Amino acid sequence: MKVEEFEERVKGDPSFSRVSLRISLEGEILFLEGETESWEQVVELGHLAAGVEGVRGIVNRLWPRGLPKPERKREGKGKAAWDGMRADVVVVGAGIVGAGIARELSRYELEVVLVEKEEDVAWGQSKGGASWIHGFAGLDVDPTSLKAKLCVEGNALYDEWAEELDFSFKRPGLLAVVMEEELVPLLEVAAERVREHGCPVRVIGREELHRMEPGLPPEAAGALFFPTYGVVAPYEVTIALVENAVANGVKLLLGTEVIGVRVEEGRVKGVITDRGEIFTSFLVNAAGLYSDEVAELAGAPEFTIHPRKGEMLLIDWKRAGACLHNLAPGELKEDPYTKGGGISLTVDGNMLWGPTAQEVPYKEDTETTKEGMERVWRKFSKYLPSIKRTDVITAFAGVRAATYTEDFHIAPSRKVKGLVNVGGIQSPGITAAPAIARMVVDILRKEGLELREKVSFNPRRRAAPRFRELGDREREQLISLDRRYGRVVCRCEHVTEGEVVEAIRRGATTLDGIKFRTRAGMGRCQGGFCTPHLLRILSRELGRPVEELTKKGGKSRVVMGRIKEPFLGG
Ligand SMILES: Cc1cc2nc3c(=O)[nH]c(=O)nc-3n(C[C@H](O)[C@H](O)[C@H](O)COP(=O)(O)OP(=O)(O)OC[C@H]3O[C@@H](n4cnc5c(N)ncnc54)[C@H](O)[C@@H]3O)c2cc1C
Repeated sequence: MKVEEFEERVKGDPSFSRVSLRISLEGEILFLEGETESWEQVVELGHLAAGVEGVRGIVNRLWPRGLPKPERKREGKGKAAWDGMRADVVVVGAGIVGAGIARELSRYELEVVLVEKEEDVAWGQSKGGASWIHGFAGLDVDPTSLKAKLCVEGNALYDEWAEELDFSFKRPGLLAVVMEEELVPLLEVAAERVREHGCPVRVIGREELHRMEPGLPPEAAGALFFPTYGVVAPYEVTIALVENAVANGVKLLLGTEVIGVRVEEGRVKGVITDRGEIFTSFLVNAAGLYSDEVAELAGAPEFTIHPRKGEMLLIDWKRAGACLHNLAPGELKEDPYTKGGGISLTVDGNMLWGPTAQEVPYKEDTETTKEGMERVWRKFSKYLPSIKRTDVITAFAGVRAATYTEDFHIAPSRKVKGLVNVGGIQSPGITAAPAIARMVVDILRKEGLELREKVSFNPRRRAAPRFRELGDREREQLISLDRRYGRVVCRCEHVTEGEVVEAIRRGATTLDGIKFRTRAGMGRCQGGFCTPHLLRILSRELGRPVEELTKKGGKSRVVMGRIKEPFLGG
C-alpha cells in the first residue's frame, strides 16, 4: 500500500470519520499527527500505517480528544554529581537489554557508563515480564524479521550466559496443547511452519502427552513439543549482567534520568541527565518503554512505543509438581500481536499464568484488574484442573514496549551520528537479549567505535548462596562461617538474614531490591511477615533510619512513624 492509498483508506472508512489525521513521510519514517475518538483508533491507525510500502518506522503522535496526556514526573535532584564525566559509550536503561549491551562492551578497553532512572536495575519491563526463553518468536511472526532471528540466536546463547553468570536457567521445554481431537492433524502443519523459524519441534500424541504431563485433563488430545524452551528469572539475569559489567569496569549510575541529548553538527556530543552532563560520542538508547522519547530528545524520532499491558497470576510454589513443562494453549489466538501467553514454570519452582495483552495509553499503567485476572484464570485453569483459586498468591502486570511495525527497532539513527536505537524490544526481548547485545556492539564497531579487547576481562560472576536450595551439610557450613545464615527472616521463601545482608552488599537499597535478589517477600504472605525484619536489617546495614527507607525508591516510603520502637529497633 502506498501512502496515498493509506490516506484514502482512512478517509473512506466511516469509523474514522471523526479522526483528524495529518500524514508526512521523512525518508522511511512515517509521521501521524492529529486527534482520534479513542485510544483503540490511535493503535489501529498506527498498525495500518505500518503496512505502507517501504516504511521502517511509525512515529504516531495521534492522541484521543479529551484524554489527558501522560504527565512526566520528574523529581529534580538538584545535584550535578556527574557533571563533566566522560565516556566512550553511554548506555541508557539498565533492563536486561541495556545490561546485556553494557556487559558485552565491558569486554573492550572502553569507558562505559550505564544510566538508569530508577533506584535499582531491572525495574522496567524486565521486572514485570514472564520467564520464557522462547524457542521462536511465534507463528504469526515473519521468520525473516529481526525479532524472529534474534529470538532463535538468543535462545542458543543462554547456556553460555547462564554458565558464565551463574543465574538459574532450566530448559523444561514447552507443550502447546490442543484440547480437540479434530485439531490433532493440524499439528504437523503447524510444526512445518515452526521449523521454518529454525526451532526444533515434535508432534506428541495423546498417550505420550499424558505421560509427560499427568496434570492435564482427559480432553487434552495432543501437542507440539518444543524442547528448547527455557525459563529464567529476568531480573536475576539483569542483576547478574550488571554485577559482571561493573566488575569489568562499567560505571552504573542509578537514580539518574536522561533528560536531554547534546547534538552538535549532527553528532552526539553528550548526554544530559538530571544529575549533570556526561560527555560522549556514542549513545545506546535501550530505554525500553521510553526509547521513543529518548530518540526524540536527540531530535531523531524514528518510532513510537504503544504500551501493551500484560496481567499475570502467580501460583504458590507449593503446587509446583502440578506441572512439569511450560504449557501453552494450542488454539487460534484472539490477538495477532501477542504470542498468547501460557503457564510458565519459574526457575524458583512456582508457576506464572498469563500474560493478557491490552493496549493502554499510559506507559506506567501496571494496575491489575478483576477482568484481567478472570481472563487469565478462564484461559489457563482448564489445562491444570487441580489448581484452585486459593493457590493464586498474587497478580501483577507488566507493560510491553511495542512499536507499530511490531518488530525490534535496532539500528543507528538515520539523523544523528553516534546514536544507536534499541527500541521496540517487546517479547521475546528476554530471549533475544544476548543476541541483541552482540548485534549492538557490532553496530557500534561499524559506526566507528574502536574496540580493543581487554585482557583483564572476566566473564564470570558468582551468585550469592541461596539457603533454600542448599543441602543440610552446606547449610551448616554456611552458618558456621556466618551465623546470620542461621536466622530465617522470610518464612515463605526460607530466606535468611545472611542472604539479605549479602543482597545489600551487592547493591540493594530498597525492599524491592532485596526481594528481587533473595525472593524475601515473594511468597504466599507477600511480605506480611518479613517486611519489618527486612527494614530493620536494611536500616542497620545502610545506616539510615527506617522512615527514610522505601519499597522501590522515590516516594514509596514504607514507615510513616514509629509505634513499636523496640521491634523495629532490635
Ligand atoms: C507481561 C510481559 C511478559 C513478557 N514475557 C516475556 C517472556 O516470557 N519471554 C521473553 O523473552 N520476553 C518477555 N517479555 C518481554 C521482555 O520483558 C522485554 O522484551 C524485556 O524485558 C525488555 O528489556 P529492556 O531492557 O529493553 O527494557 P526494560 O526492562 O524496560 O529496561 C529499560 C530501562 O530503561 C530505563 N529508562 C527509561 N527511560 C530512561 C531515561 N530517560 N533515563 C534513564 N533510564 C531510563 C527504565 O527505567 C528501564 O529500567 C514480556 C514482557 C511483559 C511486559
